[in-house]
Amino acid sequence: MKRNFGVRYLRRIGGEDFLLTVSDAPVDTYGTGSGKHIDPGGERTAMKTYSSAAAFERERRITIVCPICGGAAVRPHFSVPGGSFVRCAGCGLVYQNPQPVFDDLKGRYAQAYCDYEIENEDNFFELMRLGLRDIGFDESFFTNVPGKTFLDVGCATGKLLDVMQHLGFRVQGVEICAESARYGMAKRRIPVFIGPLEEAGFPDGSFSFVHFSHLIEHVPDPYSFLREVKRVLAPNGYAIITTPNIAGLQARLFRSLWRSAIPDHLFLFSKRTLPRLLERAGLEVLRLVTWGGLAVGTAPAWIKNRIDAAAKRMGFGDVMLVLATARGKTGVTAPVMDGGGRFEATG
Ligand SMILES: [Zn+2]
Repeated sequence: MKRNFGVRYLRRIGGEDFLLTVSDAPVDTYGTGSGKHIDPGGERTAMKTYSSAAAFERERRITIVCPICGGAAVRPHFSVPGGSFVRCAGCGLVYQNPQPVFDDLKGRYAQAYCDYEIENEDNFFELMRLGLRDIGFDESFFTNVPGKTFLDVGCATGKLLDVMQHLGFRVQGVEICAESARYGMAKRRIPVFIGPLEEAGFPDGSFSFVHFSHLIEHVPDPYSFLREVKRVLAPNGYAIITTPNIAGLQARLFRSLWRSAIPDHLFLFSKRTLPRLLERAGLEVLRLVTWGGLAVGTAPAWIKNRIDAAAKRMGFGDVMLVLATARGKTGVTAPVMDGGGRFEATG
């Protein structure tokens, strides 16, 4: 009954069509991003995050076990066009199973994806900036840290890297969408490796920061990915991870209609499951924040503002950001945080 409250509420305030409006109008949780979802039939459905218009039926699929606990026992969670999500009976992780093989998955990230990234790069950058500020990671910090190296995995068109470069970082991008990477390299003169992080072959301890925003939910083997993140992190380096929160208010209210319940998302993490996977990969969680209470247009502004504030304060926001560090590496080459959650430069 609780589960259907959100749907009933939206129908009441917006009519039956609200949830599945076929429209190009921007509708998005934070008023950013196009909010377009392209389904296999080619219709654009508002409310959902962009997902590729893959020929799902032609993709080869494999069944996987849980990357956190290794369990194979699952219960159905929900299905969306192009993907079925299950919930691990052992640890509660929600993931697509079976899921597309990587060679077929890569085909989803092509020109249409690049166009979406270009169209939304200012919005995405602003969200990243606000998220980074929430963990005490802002421009005043950047300008005071010497010897900075910053890797952005899933860097898209490279806007964040461009800013970091101007703040004195040595930057590197990794991007699986060749069109987006080439756009970023041509426009911004930043180095971008085209392909998955595991194939880039960066030397051990190369980066003081490894940032990946809205990436890990797309990665077929997030455990191996995080092991690689740890390997390329400098001693005391930081991983900064942003991903949708399936334990947030919106996910609980909307279930399969949740904006992040899309076929391009292979894993849907929560405040409980993401830290478990990070710990398993040898990364220690230092901070976790969430934000985003209600989607734009679902409530009067004064209600939305209050729920957004409560979501951030109480941790039921729609998106979470985790700051983690590479445990077990020695030496001091990256800045450390003081007790107040701020960063300080060290020798
Ligand atoms: Zn599990």
